[in-house]
Amino acid sequence: MKIHDISTLIHPDMIVYKNKIDKKPVITVVSDYSKGTSYESRALLDMHVGTHMDAPLHMVEGGDTIDNQDLYKCVTDCKVFDLAHVEEKIEMSHIQGFSIEEDDFIIFKTRNSFAKEFDFKFVFISTEVAEFLASKKIKGVGIDALSVERDQPNHETHEAFLKNNIAVLEGLNLKDINEGKYFLVALPLKIKGAEGAPSRAILIEK
Ligand SMILES: [Zn+2]
Repeated sequence: MKIHDISTLIHPDMIVYKNKIDKKPVITVVSDYSKGTSYESRALLDMHVGTHMDAPLHMVEGGDTIDNQDLYKCVTDCKVFDLAHVEEKIEMSHIQGFSIEEDDFIIFKTRNSFAKEFDFKFVFISTEVAEFLASKKIKGVGIDALSVERDQPNHETHEAFLKNNIAVLEGLNLKDINEGKYFLVALPLKIKGAEGAPSRAILIEK
């Protein structure tokens, strides 16, 4: 069994959405061996930092929260598609011929995985593709961007997924992952009432 860690490393200087300073993690050491007999620290984290899962509440008023996330959508078979050649956004022409079926968890690898800093022109999922995936009744979608959408004032891509209770996994690191079938484990922290939460995500090679 081979395990691939597809999670982003959480640290104070990590890449955060639009380089917003208040999205950077703050980690404070509250006790160390110079002062006491144990090491303890505390973290102030944006729910959408690094690898994380969005719950419907993120874009749907009254939507479900991350503590109620269906775990069958977090521990599941999945399909990784390599779209590293796509420049701007994932469109219908890019996924033509892909095997996408009901209950699939679909993960898109793009050039985002290779970015060394926040790219304001990151590759995202077009509304058309999001609506197509929703119509296929997939169970989840993952991408190596901090958001499935970009420059959408009405958040159509997020909505297509979250209104249909499709799990949305963002901020993946797929640099070393080849296209193919894997077993995904991506469990969001169980935070009461939250609209999303950081998640440790791994792919297991079958
Ligand atoms: Zn998010």
